[in-house]
Amino acid sequence: TYVVTDACIRCKYMDCVEVCPVDCFYEGENMLVINPSECIDCGVCEPECPAEAILPDTENGLEKWLELNTTMSANWPNI
Ligand code: SF4
Repeated sequence: TYVVTDACIRCKYMDCVEVCPVDCFYEGENMLVINPSECIDCGVCEPECPAEAILPDTENGLEKWLELNTTMSANWPNI
């Protein structure tokens, strides 16, 4: 899965949302997150993010962001 990281905070350009084929972005007050159980790992959102906030969870050190994307996407509205 891909995850949204803190570079998204107060950015919210939404370009990623437009391209996601499965609509798995969720919106909070300050940032977006991806629902990891819905993401199909296509990768098309990553280059669309002007803040470079979207990363594959296979990168080191993203455990905290994977957990946050999982819990927040369960609580925030789908966009
Ligand atoms: Fe959506 Fe693909 Fe990005 Fe996953 S990797 S959030 S499916 S655009």
